[in-house]
Amino acid sequence: MTSVLVTGASVAGPAVASLLARQGLDVTVVERADSLRQGGQNIDVRGTGREVLRRMGLEDAVRARNTGEVGTRFVDESGSTVSEIPVDLGENDGPTAELEILRGALSQVLVDDCPDTVAWCFGTHVTDVVETDDGTQVTFSDDSTGRFDVVVVAEGVGSATRELVMGEVEQVELGMYSAYGTIPRTDVDDDWWRVLVAPGSRQAALRPDDEGTTRANLNFLADGPELAGLGPAQQRARLRERFEGVGWEVPRILDGFDAGDDLYVDWLRQVRAPRWHEGDVCLLGDAAWCVTPVGGGGASLALVGAYVLAAFLSSSDRSRDGLHDAFAQYEDWMRPLVDEAQDLPRGVPRLAAPRTRLGVQAFRLGARAAGLSPVRRAAQKITGGPQAGRELPPFPPADGF
Ligand SMILES: Cc1cc2nc3c(=O)[nH]c(=O)nc-3n(C[C@H](O)[C@H](O)[C@H](O)COP(=O)(O)OP(=O)(O)OC[C@H]3O[C@@H](n4cnc5c(N)ncnc54)[C@H](O)[C@@H]3O)c2cc1C
Repeated sequence: MTSVLVTGASVAGPAVASLLARQGLDVTVVERADSLRQGGQNIDVRGTGREVLRRMGLEDAVRARNTGEVGTRFVDESGSTVSEIPVDLGENDGPTAELEILRGALSQVLVDDCPDTVAWCFGTHVTDVVETDDGTQVTFSDDSTGRFDVVVVAEGVGSATRELVMGEVEQVELGMYSAYGTIPRTDVDDDWWRVLVAPGSRQAALRPDDEGTTRANLNFLADGPELAGLGPAQQRARLRERFEGVGWEVPRILDGFDAGDDLYVDWLRQVRAPRWHEGDVCLLGDAAWCVTPVGGGGASLALVGAYVLAAFLSSSDRSRDGLHDAFAQYEDWMRPLVDEAQDLPRGVPRLAAPRTRLGVQAFRLGARAAGLSPVRRAAQKITGGPQAGRELPPFPPADGF
């Protein structure tokens, strides 16, 4: 039986594990965290990602965990609405999608979908990878070892196994920090994704979830990764300094970040790996092509990538050369979709993070005229999700899809 090691249990990892195990491959998943990571904010599944969910029979399970977000509203410092884009516009390409779900909830849906044959190892990561004549020998952090025909690296943007196998890959920094956290829901919160664009290249946002809390997000432009290496307490202090004087709900967000335990601070960068496979090892999801939340569609691309990789691997003759050919087919199929997602419109993300008060006023005027303006077109480009515009590759006959 073809043995597959998947590293990373977020979105891409469990999706490919489920699809491959259903094809009779012998799948082991290792995740660095001690348990499935529940953190993360509202993410959406769109375009071809939605088609993958449908084929996996998971559309209803995802819809059942909908965050309840009714649309996106730009607000000013007093909380008054500047403009709004409701989800029921019927176009499925606005900032709020029909299938909105917390990242942790999507991960759980995919893990629950895995057959019992999948083996799970939490609190473990890869420390060494050696290609042999007979597959790849992997050493883990607990000193155990294993031999695998295929290693799928789905470890996200900062993947250590990717570095182990391929060295450093190009990363394009977007010049923006994003800080996410969960804060208590209060009476002023509603079911809109409310976004404040403030002078000083700062943005603040509040989103509803289906767990009785509110998901908060602060973004700001920076010249470099100035928070790198800081601990959570220092990061909180620096966020406080950076958002000093911004009104609206920002003081509450900062207090909530101080009191919460899930603050996640990200220096946004796109991963531009020149190739996604090396020997028996293949990159998948953010580890291969992180587009960042600014690029949008990261979860959808992870689902499509998992499906395409699983389809080509399952259809191969399962010889070593056949498996390597499947990697190449997967990369050929996915590259155009990823290139398109990474090709941000000019001025993004700076356009939506003006430095001056005048710039903010101009942004708000643009947001008001969103139906016609370049703002809307830019928004569509970065929120529309990956649209392959061609058939997904087939699984072997009798695969049940
Ligand atoms: C905790 C968390 C919160 C997130 N929050 C948001 C959000 O709010 N908004 C948003 O747009 N995107 C968020 N993301 C990113 C989003 O999940 C991805 O962009 C997208 O879904 C693609 O997922 P992925 O599975 O490729 O990678 P990721 O979701 O990044 O998952 C990678 C997984 O690999 C694990 N891992 C890392 N290194 C190793 C290793 N060496 N060995 C084994 N396992 C390893 C990580 O713990 C993680 O579970 C978050 C990711 C995580 C992990």
